[in-house]
This record gives sequence, C-alpha cells and structure tokens, in this order.
Amino acid sequence: MRQEKKQVTDISDRPVIRNLADVDPVRAQQVAALRAHALSDPEAFWLEQAQRIDWATFPTAASAASFDGDVSIRWYEDGTLNASVSCLDRHLETRGDQPALIWQADDAAVSRTLTFRELHAEVCRLANALRGLGVKRGDRVAIHLPMVVEGVAAMLACARIGAIHVVLFGGFSPEGIGERLIDSGAVAVITCDFSRRGAKRIPHKTTVDAALAHAGTIGAVKNVIVVQVTGDAVPMTEGRDHDYTTLVSPQETECAPEIMRAEDVLFLLYTSGSTGKPKAMVHATGGYMVWAACTTDWTLSPQPGKIHWCTADIAWITGHTYVVYGPLLSGTTTLIYEGLLGWPQPGRWWDIVDRYQVSCLYTAPTAIRALMRDGDDVPREYSLASLERLACAGEPISPDAWEWFYTVIGQQRCPVADMWWQTETGGGMLCVIPGAQPMKPGWATTPLPGLSAVLTNEKGEIIEGATEGALCFTQSWPGQARTIWGDHKRFRETYFTFSPGKYFAGDGARRDENGYYMITGRMDDVINVSGHRIGTAEIEDALATCHSVSEAAAVGINHDLKGQGIVVFVVARSAKVAPPVDELSRVICERVGRYAAPERIYLVKDMPKTRSGKIVRRLLRKIASGETENLGDLSALADPAVIPALIAAVGEQTITG
Ligand code: ATP
Ligand code: MG
Repeated sequence: MRQEKKQVTDISDRPVIRNLADVDPVRAQQVAALRAHALSDPEAFWLEQAQRIDWATFPTAASAASFDGDVSIRWYEDGTLNASVSCLDRHLETRGDQPALIWQADDAAVSRTLTFRELHAEVCRLANALRGLGVKRGDRVAIHLPMVVEGVAAMLACARIGAIHVVLFGGFSPEGIGERLIDSGAVAVITCDFSRRGAKRIPHKTTVDAALAHAGTIGAVKNVIVVQVTGDAVPMTEGRDHDYTTLVSPQETECAPEIMRAEDVLFLLYTSGSTGKPKAMVHATGGYMVWAACTTDWTLSPQPGKIHWCTADIAWITGHTYVVYGPLLSGTTTLIYEGLLGWPQPGRWWDIVDRYQVSCLYTAPTAIRALMRDGDDVPREYSLASLERLACAGEPISPDAWEWFYTVIGQQRCPVADMWWQTETGGGMLCVIPGAQPMKPGWATTPLPGLSAVLTNEKGEIIEGATEGALCFTQSWPGQARTIWGDHKRFRETYFTFSPGKYFAGDGARRDENGYYMITGRMDDVINVSGHRIGTAEIEDALATCHSVSEAAAVGINHDLKGQGIVVFVVARSAKVAPPVDELSRVICERVGRYAAPERIYLVKDMPKTRSGKIVRRLLRKIASGETENLGDLSALADPAVIPALIAAVGEQTITG
C-alpha cells in the first residue's frame, strides 16, 4: 500500500531562528507560497497535503464540506487508508531500527525504547488479540491507561483493525468512566492494575470494574484487557478479563491492516470539560491524519532521529496529535513520561531533557507556570542544549510566562510555538511557523495555511482590521471533527448557529494590524463592566507581570451599577510571600484600564482545574457570587477537594476585608 512520495513543499529543513523577529527569507518565501496556493486553489492545495500520508487509494477530491443547513463535513471521500500504516509500516524499510517510542518510567532507573519495528510488532500482536476477541471494524474500544507503551500501542492497534479508540483519562471516577462507556458503546476496555502518581497509586482495574457495574446492563463491554503496570494483584472476572501479556505475547507480529474509507471514524475523544459537560468529538481517519501531518511539520519541524517530547496525557487531543500520530507519521522519536511534573524533585523534567537529548518540548501553560514557581535556579542546573523547539497549548499563555519559557528554558535559541486549537479542530490552528514569521509573546499569531479565520461581533457579523471579537472559521479543514458522537444536533447548535455558515470556536480573540491573533479567553467568560468588554486573559496577563503571582483567574459577577464587576482569584508564587492586594489592583488599572479595577481579589491556594490542567472559571464565578448550592457538572475536575477550600477562603476573606 506504500505510495510513491510525491512532492509536497518541504519547509522543514530550514535553519532554526535565533531571535523573536528572526525570519529566514527562504522559509518565509516558501510559506508565503504555501499560503497563496491554499487561497488560490484550495482543492489542489489540500490534495497536495494529502500526499504527506500513505493511502491505499489516493483520493481524487479533497473537500465536500458544508457548514450550512444540517452541516456535513467530509474530506478525501474516495480515499482509502489505514492510519497505523502511515505511523509504522512506512518507516520499516528506511528506519525500522530507529527508536519510535521511548518510555521513561516514574522510577528514573527504568525506561524502555521500542524501535519502529518493535512498535509495529507490538501493535500487530495487540491488533490480532483484539480481533481474536471478536472486536470488529467500527467497534469502540476504551483505553484507560497511564502514560505507558501499551497506551500508544493500543491506539494504533485499534486503528490497525478499524476499531474506534476512545481514550479515557486515568483519573476519572467510576461514574465518569461508566457514563463514557455507555455514551460511546465501547465493547472492550484496555486498562491496567494501578498507575503511579508520585507517591500515590491510582486504581484502574477496580475503577473499571465499578464503572462496568455502574454501566450495568446498558453497557456493551464484553472484554477487559489488563496491563500490569505496578504488578499489584487485582480481581479478574473469568471469561471477561484478560491479562495483557498472556493474551498478547503469543500473537503473530504481522497483522493485515483493515483498509478504511477516509471518512470512517478513527477515534472519539471527549473535550476537557472546562465550560460544561464534556462532548465526544468524532474524528475521521483521512482528514485527521493529513491535518496531524501538516500541523506537526509546519510548526514543530520534527526530524527522524531527533527526540520529540510532548508532555500531554494521551487522553487529551494534544496527546493524540502531538504524542502519537503527528510525531510517528514524521518518523521522529516520541518520548512519553509516566510520572509527574517535579516528582520526586523539581528539575525532573530537565533531567529527562538532558538524558534523552530532547529536541522539541511541547507542554501546557499550566505546567510552565508551575515550573516558573520552582525558580530559575532549577533549570539552570541543567544543560538543555539539545532543545531546538518549544511549543505550548491548552490555555492562553501570558507574555511573561512565554518570555520565561523562551529565555530560561529555550535559552533564547528555540522558537516557542504558542498553538491555539481544540479537541474539535484535530490539530493546531493558530500558530507561528517558526522562521517564516516573527514570534510575538502571548500571541498565538496567525492561522496556519489553508485556514480561514475571521472575527465577528456579538451578532456573528464579520468585523475587519485590528479589532477584537469572536473567533470563527468560514471554511472547513481536513482535521475538523465531523460531529459529536450520537448528537449531531448539539454539534450543529454549539458550533454553527452563532454565525450561520461559520465554525464558531467559542473563544474570543484580538487581532493586530499584522493579522496576528491573541486569545482573550472563552466567549462565555467575557466580562462586561459598564459597557467595556474585557477578556479574562487581559486581566490575567496583567497580573502575570507581578512577580509574587503564580496564577490568576478573573471572573465577572453581577453588579448593580456596572452590570458586571470583576473578581480575581490569585495563587501566590511562594507560600511565604502573599501578593499585596493593592499592588495587584494598581497593576490591573495601569495595564488594562481603570474600568477593570477588581471589586475583590482573593488569595487562594489552588485553582479548580480540569484534568487537562485548565482553570474552570465557571466554578470560580459561582463561588464568587455565593451560588455554591448548584455547581453543576464536576466530573471534569482534577481535584474536587479544592472546591470546599475555595469556598472557605472566599468566605473568610470576604468577611475580613
Ligand atoms: P470543553 O470544550 O469541554 O469546555 P475545553 O474547551 O477546555 O473543554 P479542549 O478542547 O481540550 O477542551 O480545549 C480547547 C480550548 O483550550 C480552546 O477552545 C481554548 O479556549 C483553549 N486553548 C487551547 N490552546 C490555546 C492557546 N494556545 N491559547 C489560548 N487558549 C487555548
Ligand atoms: Mg471547548
């Protein structure tokens, strides 16, 4: 099924830039040509991009997408392929013995490296085992594993046999997992005994057992495969539960890939749940793979033989696209780390960077803020000289955190790609193409080639020039989610009714005179003070300039005179030094405007965060308004225990002053 590689404009071998404003003229010109081609002949452009992956039958047409009426998104419809072939088989001949996957265990002394050949064999064995259990094309398979080799193998094994993977975060409660098993109709679960989180052990198998009891007779799960991660004993149900090694090791190391249509579903993935109940986005095989290949190449320039480390959990879209599919497609080595940030000591990440000579480090602003809290001396004890590329995604990054990442970690040598995207978008959307354009700290910069970003006013009408509004896209792109699993109506209503004929991302953005975009926060979170519309990120960015502040979150509460008033929650950088509240207020007034002066500032120990590390402002808003009776869906929270602590802190500080 290997396809002769045709000519796709290659922009990956250009020199790395040294300075924020540095641009390599050749690369800039190549990218300009790419953008122009996408505009002048989108059909030809997208077919050219499709050559980045291997097809069994190359498609004859690119887009058949419409945002009107019932909304129908289809790409490369007559193409056929298998996603695992582009990640594994294509490399066997040229780099079969090169590392594909490195696993660093929580225990620094334990690690495992699989070459492309070994990963291919593991994937084939598991795929054969799944087939042997009766898992068929189109069946859903839930994966509930920590960051271990088997998690990556399980995703690719599902792809191999045309089963749809549904990766569920390891820390979900039995109810959270049970609901998702019912919603997705999973027929099998791949889990483990326990996982490690620092000193803690998280039960996976007994959680799945409880989830299956919760799902009861509605659930369709017939088989549970259990990986031994910690080796602790767990109850096994005869006939349903299988030990991974016993089941998988005797299998054949070849497995004929199921040839899928481009529009067949590759995976379902639930969003993070920052704004409400998580939604299961449906991603189709052909388009997703093409978009993963394009975005990885344009923004991260992965190279075979180099080490790529994206710290995201595979349960999030970043883990799908930039831990598994994107890097493996490009033949680079992807590194996964089982453990926690800063465990057992600060500097653990930098030790990994030096030890494996990591070239590209991709992480989230929440991690960057936590790393900053450790102080600059920690990373300065390490070389970090192997780093060439940095990237982050997940939340707005303040210019200060951006500068820190660029200066202290990247040593002003590595470009930082601040990539704005969503579970819904499949891959990066707004991002700098390093070397082709100047970077701008705190700005996700420009839409990637082929994308049609616009800003609209509150009525959904397009607004031009340097301005601020709702971020929408007028045209489909290959990696776009096709629907919400089992709920196309919610899909249409959530994304396509705000401004008919456009995809509404739900985020607000500012655009400068050069067409650069900065995300100002969620549209739901925009604060309207006496007619001034203020994005949460604007206030939070201002506070990030205060050295005593580690994290800040702004929310709007009802105000009799102003309509809304601003309340700010602040986590101190050091437990010993409380940020001076008057000073914080002054900084906001200076940087944003007097109208943004907060009504109240609360010092708190922790923010409510999703399991993917994002601040959940809707909960802060309720707590600040005293509406603590009905906090809504809390299943997405990483640590529900922060809620009573927040309510207590707000109660105390409101009384004392
Ligand atoms: P839910 O949709 O369930 O509320 P979520 O939106 O947090 O959860 P994800 O799909 O994981 O789920 O996150 C996408 C969102 O993350 C974007 O809509 C945006 O708000 C935020 N985001 C991602 N990357 C960036 C970035 N580089 N800059 C600013 N915001 C970002
Ligand atoms: Mg979202």
